[in-house]
Amino acid sequence: MNKKVVVVGGGITGLSAAYYLQKAGVDAELVEKSDHLGGKIETVHKDGFTIERGPDSFLARKTSMLKLAEEVGLSEEVVKNATGNAYILAKGRLNRMPQGSHMGIPTRRRPLLKSSLFSGFGKGRALLEPYQRVNTKKNDEALGVFLRRRLGNEVVENAIEPLLSGIYAGDIDQLSMDATFPQFKQVTEEYGSLVRGLKATEAVPREKRTHKKPSAFRAFAGGLSSFVEAIHSKLKPGSVHLSKGVDHIQKRENGYHMLMSDGEVMWADEIILTVPAPVAAKMLAQYEWVEPLKQMKATSVANVAMAFDQSAIKQDIDGTGFVVARTSGDYRITACTWTHKKWAHAAPEGKALLRCYIGKPGDEEVVDKSDEEIKKIVMNDLEKIMNITDQPDFFVVTRWHDAMPQYSVGHKERLTKIDHYLKKDLPGVQLAGAHYYGIGLPDCINQGRAAAKRIIERG
Ligand code: FAD
Repeated sequence: MNKKVVVVGGGITGLSAAYYLQKAGVDAELVEKSDHLGGKIETVHKDGFTIERGPDSFLARKTSMLKLAEEVGLSEEVVKNATGNAYILAKGRLNRMPQGSHMGIPTRRRPLLKSSLFSGFGKGRALLEPYQRVNTKKNDEALGVFLRRRLGNEVVENAIEPLLSGIYAGDIDQLSMDATFPQFKQVTEEYGSLVRGLKATEAVPREKRTHKKPSAFRAFAGGLSSFVEAIHSKLKPGSVHLSKGVDHIQKRENGYHMLMSDGEVMWADEIILTVPAPVAAKMLAQYEWVEPLKQMKATSVANVAMAFDQSAIKQDIDGTGFVVARTSGDYRITACTWTHKKWAHAAPEGKALLRCYIGKPGDEEVVDKSDEEIKKIVMNDLEKIMNITDQPDFFVVTRWHDAMPQYSVGHKERLTKIDHYLKKDLPGVQLAGAHYYGIGLPDCINQGRAAAKRIIERG
């Protein structure tokens, strides 16, 4: 095959696409606007701590990342998370997530009844779920609307919403059910109840329903950036171009001209765009049908990793962190991971690493405060919640602007239309990555690999 493919964007999606293309012998080049690879993946090593500024782990159940790790020789470096209780800050205190919950959805009667998270009314409402008629909608609807209808507002607001907004940093009453958790609808239809369906399928593994929770996440002992480096090392020398952004794409007979930020023009027979949707829309601004891509929003978030001596943690928890329910009033952090408890490689002996998250719909401006201000806001909350009063030895603030794609209702339908126009007007140009068909790292790898496969199969 002697066609030339250009992969735009050097995040995990672009790296995977370039890797699988080159592995099949395709002449693929990767162009990245910034001066480094990895996109949202960024690990900092400081004083024996391993600090992730973006993602910190990946789901083992979705196997694409483990497979790629094996291919690039990193299997030995894979580490498992320590399991422990997850907590939710609601009603002004930390409450244990009821055992057997899946994404905050309580699936077992007794833990639900014993939980301090819900009132008697809230528990009763949730327990009625299996007796409701199947009231799923044919068309897409908001995830929050569906869950409220099945389980009641209290369970949604005190358990499900804090967990899901931790993943999507969005408003679950706007997030698309079809694009985020289509399986909730499927199992409800198949088993006549969401709870029965989750229990009957893989969603709630048997171990979870009995005693020991299996560890669901994986990371790399050297941090996620070591994975980026390992993939990079497998790419052909000279095929990766940093500090080279694409501004515009123009169709030519049998291929494409790509106008680069440095004024150069690159030729491509086929292109994989792994950039955010509004960025892709700008590159293809001459086509009216890109309008929906411009509308695809992403929220801004920030996190602060704080390194402490163990002695600063006076009120230890037997768990790995907590998420904050929006109903809990005046807290500005949205979640806090006790990273040293979850990941042995993250902190040296005798030290603690906490990572707190801020920024949510309605409180996005907090992201643009100064490092000191952000630390102060977080410390203020931590003192109220965990009685932590000592200052950290050091802290690392990371801001991610427009970084968490929001799959709003109708997302999949909009993408189907865009895909139709791409095939018609720009054959050989594909979209892949977090803004389109899944945000988790394994989902991104799957998209990169699938885009590469389509090119390879076309020959
Ligand atoms: P990106 O990583 O955004 O890469 C896109 C690349 O395109 C960037 O490098 C960018 O510089 C480049 N680019 C932009 N414009 C141009 C241009 N014009 N020309 C050339 N290049 C361009 N997922 C998990 O599975 N587990 C987690 O624990 C997790 N935690 C997260 C925590 C945070 C704070 C964030 C922000 C995300 C998290 N995610 C997590 C999600 C996951 O990290 C992302 O969805 C994923 O890394 C996105 O990869 P990508 O390659 O699709 O996009």
